[in-house]
Amino acid sequence: MPDPADEKSYAPGSMVFRQGDPTDHAYMINSGRVEIVANGIAISVLGPGEIFGEMALIDGRPRSASARALEESVLLPISREFMSTRMQKADPLMRLLLKQVLSRLRDQQPAADGWTGEKRATPGLTQQQVAVELNMATDLRSALSHDALELHFQPIVTLPHNRLVGFEALARWDRPGVGFVPPPHFVGVAEETGLIVPLGRWVLVRACQALKRMQRRRRRVAGDDEALFMSVNMSAHQLYTDGEVQQLLDIVGSTGVSPKRLKLEITESVLMDDPSLAERAIMILRDAGVRIAIDDFGTGYSSLSYLNRFPLDTLKVDRSFVAPLPGDGAGLRIVKAILSLARELGLTTIAEGVEEIDQLTCLAKLNCDYAQGFLISRPLPETEMHEWMTPLAPRRPQQRRAVPG
Ligand code: C2E
Ligand code: MG
Ligand code: MG
Repeated sequence: MPDPADEKSYAPGSMVFRQGDPTDHAYMINSGRVEIVANGIAISVLGPGEIFGEMALIDGRPRSASARALEESVLLPISREFMSTRMQKADPLMRLLLKQVLSRLRDQQPAADGWTGEKRATPGLTQQQVAVELNMATDLRSALSHDALELHFQPIVTLPHNRLVGFEALARWDRPGVGFVPPPHFVGVAEETGLIVPLGRWVLVRACQALKRMQRRRRRVAGDDEALFMSVNMSAHQLYTDGEVQQLLDIVGSTGVSPKRLKLEITESVLMDDPSLAERAIMILRDAGVRIAIDDFGTGYSSLSYLNRFPLDTLKVDRSFVAPLPGDGAGLRIVKAILSLARELGLTTIAEGVEEIDQLTCLAKLNCDYAQGFLISRPLPETEMHEWMTPLAPRRPQQRRAVPG
């Protein structure tokens, strides 16, 4: 339960929150009475033991009504963190259904965010969308059990010499009867339905096995034994499911890959869903030698406080900051600032989404450590990646410009 020490008193007539406010807490009434008002119309009066404000907390949208204490009232706030931890643990189907019920309820209410017309800026899930997602989940479950997914690998190189140091593993799904499904789409469905846990394990096994083969390949073609690393994307569910982090470490152990060769990519917003749980999981990973990268840095969270809180290794500068380079405007200044922040904190930096040679040159001048992007190579199936690693093999045009060392 939430901590009773967080209880707050509200004087008669005082506002607990207003319609349109951003959401941070739900409230349980310990004593007193609270009136709920939407668009100036009182819609209910609640008393001890009742909870209000929970809907916006679950779907993250602005308050759809105001809440005002009618008499001296003592309220117990229930934080977003508290709710989201429980939501993560709930049965995936229940989560999906809850979302649908909430979106129906929302659609019956006048919007609090200024919407008055037919379409909302961020519509909830319709019944049809839920059906589409459940269908996709069924196919994805079947693909997983038939080993029908693929992993592609995108190289990561040093700056300024373009020497290969590692790869990012990226999942690919050719859905029967549909074709290529963009990863954010099926990863999103996997997250909603809990399939991300088996999917994440599958990715990790395949990525570790591939790393061993690619390491051997490197020894053969480049004649050196410098250890390559493998970056694997990690979703919230994997970080927050009890015992899953230990499972993942066991998987790495069973492949014979040293955890030091593994880098897990986590986004800022995933870390901040439940910072205490995330901290515990990251400590376990770090103690085992796994390195941690912040993916899409700069896009997910406005506070930088987490940079101090978590033991991190790498910041991946998001593609949206790399795209405007070189230029001389705000884009360049932002990248400079991110790189100098990372240096101050002792973190290495990887620029994502490098597509142009001028971007690569500019990033090298700014002392960014590593680069990844279509300019160097698109993500490729393993056999093509082996070919890419062979200096004399014919290259596709976009791969010719940067040569692995
Ligand atoms: P991400 O982790 O930020 O991965 C980088 C994405 O940028 C990849 O998209 C990659 O193909 C793309 N990319 C790389 N270089 C360039 C470039 O120069 N230009 C452009 N325009 N794009 C570039 P992809 O493979 O579609 O994956 C998208 C996202 O899906 C990933 O973003 C990641 O969040 C998620 N994802 C992919 N595979 C997995 C996985 O195995 N597990 C989890 N949890 N998430 C995954
Ligand atoms: Mg990534
Ligand atoms: Mg990224």
